[in-house]
Amino acid sequence: MKLNSRKLWNFKGGVHPEGHKSLSNSSAIKDAKIPSVLVLPLQQHIGAVANPLVVPGQRVLKGELIAQGEGMVSASLHAPTSGTITAIEERPIPHPSGLMDLCIILESDQEDRWCSLNPIEDPLQLDADAIREAIRAAGIVGLGGAGFPAHVKLNPGAHTEVDTLIINGAECEPYITCDDRLMRERAESILCGIEIMARAISAHHILIGVEDNKPEAIAALNRALQHHKQSRIEIVTVPTLYPTGGERQLIKVLTGKEVPTQGIPLDIGIVCHNVATAARVEQAVVHGRPLISRVVTVSGEAIPRPGNYEVLFGTPMADLIAEAGGTIDQQPATIIMGGPMMGLPVTDSATPVTKTCNCLLIQPVQPRPTLHQPCIRCGECAISCPAQLQPQQLYWHARAKEFDKVQDEHLFDCIECGCCSWVCPSQIPLVHYFRFAKAEIWSQEREKAAADIARERHEFRQLRIEREKAERAELMKRKKAALAKKKKSGVSGSKESIAAAVERTKAKKAALAAKEAKAATEPSAPPTPPPDATENRTDEGEQREI
Ligand code: SF4
Ligand code: SF4
Repeated sequence: MKLNSRKLWNFKGGVHPEGHKSLSNSSAIKDAKIPSVLVLPLQQHIGAVANPLVVPGQRVLKGELIAQGEGMVSASLHAPTSGTITAIEERPIPHPSGLMDLCIILESDQEDRWCSLNPIEDPLQLDADAIREAIRAAGIVGLGGAGFPAHVKLNPGAHTEVDTLIINGAECEPYITCDDRLMRERAESILCGIEIMARAISAHHILIGVEDNKPEAIAALNRALQHHKQSRIEIVTVPTLYPTGGERQLIKVLTGKEVPTQGIPLDIGIVCHNVATAARVEQAVVHGRPLISRVVTVSGEAIPRPGNYEVLFGTPMADLIAEAGGTIDQQPATIIMGGPMMGLPVTDSATPVTKTCNCLLIQPVQPRPTLHQPCIRCGECAISCPAQLQPQQLYWHARAKEFDKVQDEHLFDCIECGCCSWVCPSQIPLVHYFRFAKAEIWSQEREKAAADIARERHEFRQLRIEREKAERAELMKRKKAALAKKKKSGVSGSKESIAAAVERTKAKKAALAAKEAKAATEPSAPPTPPPDATENRTDEGEQREI
């Protein structure tokens, strides 16, 4: 075991906001109540939407597969408890757009009966594909907030070598303490999950980065590590600085390496996962339990009992807030999913907790929204930016809807950490402008893609019409030519046939005249008696012969 013997690096920028972690970090993880109705969005992850496998009226058991991940990048969904599917319909989801999306509605029977599970006794004997398959089947996504399917990240490809697996236990955002509690209480599970993931990618080195404001978590991990004598896991304490928990920033701090712009950590031989993801990998592979719940911090100044809860996915946020004592004096409050720096405002408390929800921050409503002042070009935002961007330039272009220019300023390198907004003396909500610009650009790209498809279809149709027209014209031309040829040959044939007919008529007339002349020179024969009606034709023939 090594502790702090590793050289650390700094990343540029970063800020030191007040942590507010003590509000919730001393309360142990509690199981939240099973809600009466669970709302399960089909898309709780990055990638293709899951395909529902259930129908209204169907009974399901806890852990049963209810929606299948589709394609390479997707994640399956499992019933968080037992009950009956009552509908598949659009409901509010936690998304910056505030739009509704398709959800499976599950009415719980409060019996919480598991389906049969497939635990694996010795997961470290599994090969990489079998580990990835177990993780894929369990619907595990990155629980640090992004929601990228974990099995995809654990598949570097046959020809890519992974030097280091980095486990992110930094949890740098204020108020959030769910990973801290998880490391304190489930360190053994985390370490086991890490060993399984390291086996899947054949990582040479394994580092767990934890900020130095979590001494109990670091101690718990070190205690658990004593049971893993042969482990290559290295626990590294890193200085508390927001946003050290950003993937690129933690990689820089621990290894000194920079993930290239537009690149991914794997480009520099690194795979990064969150501590909570590691714990769920252990649950999935060792115990066969799919991902149906997560630890969520419920904190903020507007609730009486901040804490950490194991929450079933689909639990309405209102239920969880009620579990934390509701709002103090029933005052109106704002709900933020995530922390104060990167979180998303939630306008409907019926919105469900999903796989990417690590925190509900419940704050008193501000009496009046603060109006921001004009930019004074102080440059503080650029100094604080860990992505080394020029936030004030981004702001000007985003505000003016100059989306080409905002991309020239590398908008998509912005990790939306909120440092620039945090330091801005004019209190400009810079990140909101950047999110708006990104959403507009994506929307324009979607529209452009749709227009391109429509144009291609139109062009293809025109081509088809032109081709069919040309084919018809060619056919007509050929028919006309054939007709003309036939007509030409048909006219001469007609003359010949008329001449032949004339000849035939003449011959007939001559034959008739000869017959009449012959008849006139011969005596008349007696009339032939009619055949007996009772005789058959054979008899008649025989009689004639006789
Ligand atoms: S910190 Fe605010 S006021 Fe200063 S340059 Fe940036 S946007 Fe302008
Ligand atoms: S939100 Fe974006 S622009 Fe602002 S500091 Fe963070 S990375 Fe830089």
